Amino acid sequence: HDTLPASPSASVLNTLHKVFGFNAFRPNQGEVVQAILSGRDAFAVMPTGGGKSLCYQLPAVVMEGTCVVISPLIALMKDQVDGARVNGIRAAYLNSSLSPDEQSLVMSELTSNRLDLLYVAPERFSLEHFQTVLKEVKISMAVIDEAHCISEWGHDFRPDYLSLSALVELFPDVPVAAFTATATHKVQADILRKLGLRDPFVVRASFDRPNLTYDVRFKDNVSEQLVGLLKSSPGKAGIIYRTSRKSVNETTAMLQAKGFRALPYHAGLGDEERKKNQETFIRDEADVIVATVAFGMGIDKSNIRFVIHADLPKSIENYYQETGRAGRDGEPAHCTLLFSQGDIPKVRFFIDTIIDETERNKALDALQRVVSFASTSVCRRITLLDYFGESYPKENCGSCDICLGTREVTDCTREAQMLLSAIARTEGRFGATHIIDIVMGSKNKKILELGHDRLKTYGVGKEKNKKFWRHLIDELLAQKMIAKAEGLYPTLYLLEQSVPVLKGEARLEMVRVIEKKTPKPSRT
Ligand code: ADP
Ligand code: ZN
Repeated sequence: HDTLPASPSASVLNTLHKVFGFNAFRPNQGEVVQAILSGRDAFAVMPTGGGKSLCYQLPAVVMEGTCVVISPLIALMKDQVDGARVNGIRAAYLNSSLSPDEQSLVMSELTSNRLDLLYVAPERFSLEHFQTVLKEVKISMAVIDEAHCISEWGHDFRPDYLSLSALVELFPDVPVAAFTATATHKVQADILRKLGLRDPFVVRASFDRPNLTYDVRFKDNVSEQLVGLLKSSPGKAGIIYRTSRKSVNETTAMLQAKGFRALPYHAGLGDEERKKNQETFIRDEADVIVATVAFGMGIDKSNIRFVIHADLPKSIENYYQETGRAGRDGEPAHCTLLFSQGDIPKVRFFIDTIIDETERNKALDALQRVVSFASTSVCRRITLLDYFGESYPKENCGSCDICLGTREVTDCTREAQMLLSAIARTEGRFGATHIIDIVMGSKNKKILELGHDRLKTYGVGKEKNKKFWRHLIDELLAQKMIAKAEGLYPTLYLLEQSVPVLKGEARLEMVRVIEKKTPKPSRT
């Protein structure tokens, strides 16, 4: 936060009440509204459901002229406009779903200054002829919704959005405000740079969702586990996410056969069926939607009580967004991730098919972070918030499997010391593979050439396998005992927190690694 604008005036609060029917602002809304009303640019990062629309709709009502909102979510424009009209706001949208007649009607409303709020898609906005029209009408402010779409670092980059960098020049005299629900600090900096906002008022709301409980379980028998989870919340609404259409269909069939009111949702179904299933779910006539990630964008169902990921999510960001669909009403909701090491190669297989190297590396990095999230024993909430650059004020969140102590952990202090001292004795100049080679006593060329077979830690960890050591390194990274230097050869180095463990003054615990049992060959 930078300097706060003056607190909202009585007339602003009056509008909040009269037009929108709310008694008070939600966190950050009042500040953003005041900044805009004072003519300042603004940038706000607020989680889904945080109430971003109000931040520009209220100024749009108060200020003279039309507020232009650029949004990529064509499917949601109609809902937004309908909602605003119910509140008596003069709102309209322009996109390809309108007939030419409807479009010219909206254009004439715009040019005769009869609109408070106009939603447009970015491709329409970039049209020269549209911009000429805009120059001739009174514009109160410009809004960029889903602003992360302008950043290649975000998870939903849209090239169309790049044309918005010229926005500030186009509207030199009115405030420009950008909003997003998903921005790490890196993406935030990128958005601000690309848009070139002028001394903007910046707010970041907390991403914490206190009513969500996070739970990661080892996946061994998915069907059995899903049935168990559904039985534990009978009749409650929930989403089960799966990666492939095939597994969506199979899981749905399995659940239906057991009498659950479950429906499938994926891009392979016809538009009709998808829409029907979604509406049945929204009306509470089905309890469970089994879906690929295609489901959820823009669905507004507030009473979702659980979200289960039966396969690995694509990234922490995706996981946050997907679990974020639970508990929008503020009541408790449960998020379960079924995790199996065996899922990793499947995802790797898909990643390997990505041709663009930058994209491939991004996907690999995202996978690594998800695996670390799922397989380490750091509070889930702390890890999720850390991803958004936010630090959680407490050590124990009280509502994740780690903090509730429902995880089985083992003491790995001795093994951690082996790794840490191998890293220390080689002065942080080597990556994970080499460090593991040292503790396992490998006789490879590099070890021998460097004389690392003469280190005190050489071969001390022979009795454990490579997988164990990889897992422990992930754990040490997640617990911030060590860090990875960025670069072509990511070397590991010690962080201050590792000192007590090295000295034997602190213990290190790790979640149990389940080794896949290899079935005995059957004799016939
Ligand atoms: P976002 O766009 O950030 O996801 P919305 O603007 O759709 O969030 O708002 C989410 C919900 O919160 C909406 O149902 C909205 O009516 C409600 N809401 C917004 N501001 C307030 C407020 N100050 N008080 C009560 N409810 C609010
Ligand atoms: Zn926790």
